[in-house]
Amino acid sequence: MVSAVWYFKDNYLLTNTITEQNHVLMIVKIKNTAISLVKGDITFQETDAIVNAANSGLMGGGGVDGAIHRAGGPSILEECKKIVAKQGRLPPGKAVITAAGNLPTKYVIHTVGPVWRGGNANEAAILASAYTESLRLAESHKLESIAFPSISTGAYGYPFAAASAVAIDSVIKFAKNEALLLKKIVFVLFNDAAYESYAGALEIISRQ
Ligand code: ADP
Repeated sequence: MVSAVWYFKDNYLLTNTITEQNHVLMIVKIKNTAISLVKGDITFQETDAIVNAANSGLMGGGGVDGAIHRAGGPSILEECKKIVAKQGRLPPGKAVITAAGNLPTKYVIHTVGPVWRGGNANEAAILASAYTESLRLAESHKLESIAFPSISTGAYGYPFAAASAVAIDSVIKFAKNEALLLKKIVFVLFNDAAYESYAGALEIISRQ
């Protein structure tokens, strides 16, 4: 149910909706791409791709990485192992793509965010690159929709306020300057604190 709609400039539409699991809470449209926020579990997303906040070894782990491998089954890990055997460990800020096993999405894009070291270790540029490289990979596979978790804000310790500003800025720049086929970019936020940060960042940046 739509509770409020605000129109900004011609190409911005911001909506707030009442939600259940994985229902859209907020949408901003930038050119032809809708950027939306939902609360929920990314493994339920039916976008063409979901993004995994992986580690450089691509061997699975805790957090969203563990949830994706558990729900998707062993074929994702098999494919990850082949990628690492072929090209080595995945550096922070880069992305690779695999099929999605039993998940409702078609592809999993695995990217590695930065470990938070206080903010002066190039964290913002690496985090921006993780988003942009994932989006470029989606475009090169001719995908129309993609869902992201809040990369680096779990085990890697990046504060939500800073991470959400980088994440939203990166996808808005991509929607403005690079998106061709991508029509839908979703952030799936796992808890209220994450959602509030991303909603604040999206509202501020989309008004600029
Ligand atoms: P990182 O190592 O990049 O910090 P984590 O998986 O530890 O990755 O955490 C990244 C974010 O993903 C955290 O904010 C965490 O709350 C969130 N998260 C954990 N599980 C899920 C899930 N199933 N769906 C969406 N987000 C999740």
